[in-house]
Amino acid sequence: MDRINIGAAVVHRIEEWSGTFMTPQTLFVGYSEEGYAQAKPLVAGTYLEGDTDTIVARLQSWVVEIEGSRILIDTGAGNDKQRPGIPLFGNLQTPFLKRLSAAGFEPEDIDLVICTHLHVDHVGWNTRLDAGSWVPTFPKARYVFPKPDTEFWDPRNLARYPDKIGEAVNAGFFDDSVRPILDLGLAQLVDGSVEVAAGVRLDPAPGHTPGSQTITVTSRGESALFVGDVLHHPLQIMNPAWNSIFCEDAALARESRLSVLHRAVDEEAILVPAHFAGEHMVRVVNTRGGLRPAPL
Ligand SMILES: [Zn+2]
Repeated sequence: MDRINIGAAVVHRIEEWSGTFMTPQTLFVGYSEEGYAQAKPLVAGTYLEGDTDTIVARLQSWVVEIEGSRILIDTGAGNDKQRPGIPLFGNLQTPFLKRLSAAGFEPEDIDLVICTHLHVDHVGWNTRLDAGSWVPTFPKARYVFPKPDTEFWDPRNLARYPDKIGEAVNAGFFDDSVRPILDLGLAQLVDGSVEVAAGVRLDPAPGHTPGSQTITVTSRGESALFVGDVLHHPLQIMNPAWNSIFCEDAALARESRLSVLHRAVDEEAILVPAHFAGEHMVRVVNTRGGLRPAPL
């Protein structure tokens, strides 16, 4: 789904990267053959290469038009970034900004940039390379970052947070994609539940990173839940105890995932994770057999 209405709001999907990424056996902590065998028939095809058991993934951003605001959710890996810890996302040269333009938005049209969390694949287009310097890609935007993540990932705080699971994979992103925004005073650091624009609320969902947050967009009684990496793949809807190998706090990540999935059920909200292939968003239903993804 590349364009969807949520009440009077409009959500546009902007793709940055598409490909295969690991097997469920290697990506998930808590993986079980039994859980996989039960869930695989529901997701094989567009979400999973069934013959090779390889996850199909996306890097994608969302532009939400609501009440006169244009909000960009997550900013992918970006172009020209040096990523020794994850070469797959290093030195990319994607036409992301052309795709944004094709959807109807120039960088200066974006009012608000919200990162669901600070990780290498969610902050990249915060900045772009201009004559050797990292400058804000969205010059008129306020950038909303989760405060716990700005503290956790700042290399200057290494002594305070020495044992990060994602340290190697995420090397470099803070200095090229977050600090330039902080130094220019363009960031709003949030901690806890807060409404950042009319119809747009942030809530903490910690675990994957300390500051991971969900973004709830509500309009005329309809809602969508942008959940970042609270889950990476629909296999985790049937197996909500499965964490990714990138989750910093295993117990909190499980708790947040279960809570977010039940919110999607209870509020009849469309669930929009960061990396889903397939239709990129699902509804969640609670059946006798447990939680299941359902088409929109
Ligand atoms: Zn991610």
